[in-house]
Amino acid sequence: MPAFADFFSDTKTRPTAAMRAAMANAEVGDERAGEDPTVNRLVERCAALLGKSAAVYLPSGTMCNEIAVAVHCRPGDEVLCDATSHLIGYEGGGPAAIAGVMLNTIAGARGIYGAQQLRDKLRPDRPYAPRQRLVEVEQTANLGGGAVWPLAALREVADVAKAHGLATHMDGARLLNACVASGVAAADYAQGYDSVWIDFSKGLGAPGGAVLAGDAAFIAEATRLKFRWGGAMRQSGIIAAACEYALDRHVERLADDHANARTLARGIGEIAGLAVDVAGVETNLVYFDVVDERFDAARLAAAAFERGVRFSEMGARTLRAVTHLDVDAAAVEKALSVLREILA
Ligand SMILES: *Cc1c(COP(=O)(O)O)cnc(C)c1O
Repeated sequence: MPAFADFFSDTKTRPTAAMRAAMANAEVGDERAGEDPTVNRLVERCAALLGKSAAVYLPSGTMCNEIAVAVHCRPGDEVLCDATSHLIGYEGGGPAAIAGVMLNTIAGARGIYGAQQLRDKLRPDRPYAPRQRLVEVEQTANLGGGAVWPLAALREVADVAKAHGLATHMDGARLLNACVASGVAAADYAQGYDSVWIDFSKGLGAPGGAVLAGDAAFIAEATRLKFRWGGAMRQSGIIAAACEYALDRHVERLADDHANARTLARGIGEIAGLAVDVAGVETNLVYFDVVDERFDAARLAAAAFERGVRFSEMGARTLRAVTHLDVDAAAVEKALSVLREILA
């Protein structure tokens, strides 16, 4: 068993030796001038993967979201998103501070809302109300437990948005997890969404980078903001090479992470004092609750950390375990034996 198993997040992955070799050997140029061949190739591949005509390389998923919101909206506009959306609690207040938008939240189930719930939020354009401009979805839904939006649900939401003249944006930080779990192509999930992005620093295991895709006019504006906000880099092919390597080698293996997550959830479900919705574990995120009165999330996390297993605290009694490239089946066994020992 590994000495330390880090289930804190799939952002904890470190580049593999082969990924590092790909980075070391990357062909590079001045990205800002459009001269980095590795970045250019990555961006073209991602546009095709996502079924869009253009794409732009950005340092992070957060910048993809912030740029997309700012391109779609004007200050005072309203963005409709699920109440658990990453935009709300994890982006430093960017939608308000940078784009100047209002977020109107929809109370979905596990991060997924229905077309009717969206319809219920729509209102006629009134001079005293914020202008509704953008509908946002997260595939998979992070705080929703890694739940996968069904294709039909995504299409219905996009159809309602379009019928009301609203733009659509998909936060695809873990879109490829959804694709591997369901067998649905990324471009199919993204159909009907004006902008969509994927993150390379989550389960794909690259040290950074994300690609935002859309039509040519959207990407032209997004690129202007990338420059304005200082997101344009120079020989970033070094990082893009890791992303390209991940696209080639680390997508199908996400199925291993999903299998490990299910094994972990089943094991947790058998430990008295813990509660987990095993059937709800569709991808690589396992949310579980501490019901044992002797513990809360912080105490359990601290006890596990002392024994070489790290979870993240997501609430007073809720913990999250994320499977990824750097936690294998042996790490799952370690996590389970540590939890059993603590709760015995
Ligand atoms: C991680 C994450 C982001 C932000 O991506 P970064 O690359 O960490 O900036 C956005 N949305 C979701 C759902 C995420 O999980």
